[in-house]
Amino acid sequence: MTAVRMDGKELAAKVREGVARQVSDLGHVGLATVLVGDDPASHVYISSKHKAATEAGIDARDVRLPAETSEDDVLELVASLNEDPEVDGILVQLPLPSHMDETKVTYAVSPAKDVDGFHPVNAGNLYLGTPIHVPATPSGCMELLRAYGIDPAGKEAVVIGRSEIVGRPMSMLLLHAHATVTICHSRTADLAAHVRRADIVVAAVGRPGIVTTDMVKPGAACLDVGLTRTDEGIRGDIDPGVEEVAGFLTPMPGGTGPMTIAMLLESTLKAARYRRGMLDFPGN
Ligand code: NAP
Repeated sequence: MTAVRMDGKELAAKVREGVARQVSDLGHVGLATVLVGDDPASHVYISSKHKAATEAGIDARDVRLPAETSEDDVLELVASLNEDPEVDGILVQLPLPSHMDETKVTYAVSPAKDVDGFHPVNAGNLYLGTPIHVPATPSGCMELLRAYGIDPAGKEAVVIGRSEIVGRPMSMLLLHAHATVTICHSRTADLAAHVRRADIVVAAVGRPGIVTTDMVKPGAACLDVGLTRTDEGIRGDIDPGVEEVAGFLTPMPGGTGPMTIAMLLESTLKAARYRRGMLDFPGN
C-alpha cells in the first residue's frame, strides 16, 4: 500500500483564500504579533505568519523587542494591545527569554484576542467542548482529517506528546470528535504497542523517525507534527517508510506546518467576529 498524501500545502492555500474573502467582507481585520529576543526559529515563524496574514489582507503589526526587554514592559504592551480597537488578534511568540514568566505573559492576553488559544479560558473551553480559540496546529490536523474524509468517531487515536500547544489540545479535539484517545509521552512504557492499535496517529514529539514502519497499523492515518532540523534537512517524527503501510500520511514538510499558519488566520478572523459582536463570546 502507498499512503494517500495529505497535502497540507494545498489545503492551507484553500483555507487562506477563504480567509482572504472573509477579511475583505469584514473590511478590516488586525493581528498584532509580539516577538521578544533573538531566537532564530521564532524570527522565521513570525515572518511566515506575517507574510500569510498580509497576503490574506489582514493588517499585521509586527512588534519585535530586544531580549533584555523587561517583563513589565511586555505586560504593558499586551495591555495596550488588548485595548487597541485596530487589533483583533494578539499572538505572543514563545519561547520568551528566560527572565520572563511565560505563563504570566500568556495569561495577560485578552481571551477573546488570544488567537493562539493558550489562555486558560480558551484551554478550559476546549476541555469543556465549547471551543473559542483553539491552538492552530491541532486545529490544522483536524482540518486535514476532515478534508480527507477521515471521521474520528469510533476510531482508536493515539497522540504522541502531551504539550499544551499540540498534544493535549489535539487529544481533546479527537475526543470531542468521538475517537477513543490514548495520549503517549516520555514515560509511556511501550509506545509501539499503543501506536500499533491506532487508526489515527498524531506524532508531536520532535524526535526524527520515532514512529517506525513496524509500529503502524496497515491503513492508519498518520499526521506528522514533530519537526527537527538536521544536516540532511527537515525531518519529521514519522519515518518516511511508513507510507508503505499507512492509509494516509502528511508529508514533512508540506503537511501540518502550512495548516498551522492557515488556522492562525482563521482564528484571527474569528477574533474579529467576537470583537464586532458577530459571535457571542462565552461567559460575556
Ligand atoms: P514539547 O513541548 O517538547 O513536547 C514534546 C512531547 O513529546 C512531550 O509531551 C514529551 O513527553 C513527548 N516525548 C518526548 N520524548 C518522547 C518519547 N521518547 N516517547 C513519547 N513521547 C515523548 O514540544 P511541542 O511544542 O509539543 O512540539 C512537538 C514537536 O512538534 C516539535 O518538534 C515542534 O517543533 C513541532 N511543532 C510543529 C508544528 C507544526 O506546525 N508542524 C507546530 C508546533 C510544534 P513529556 O511530556 O513526558 O516530556
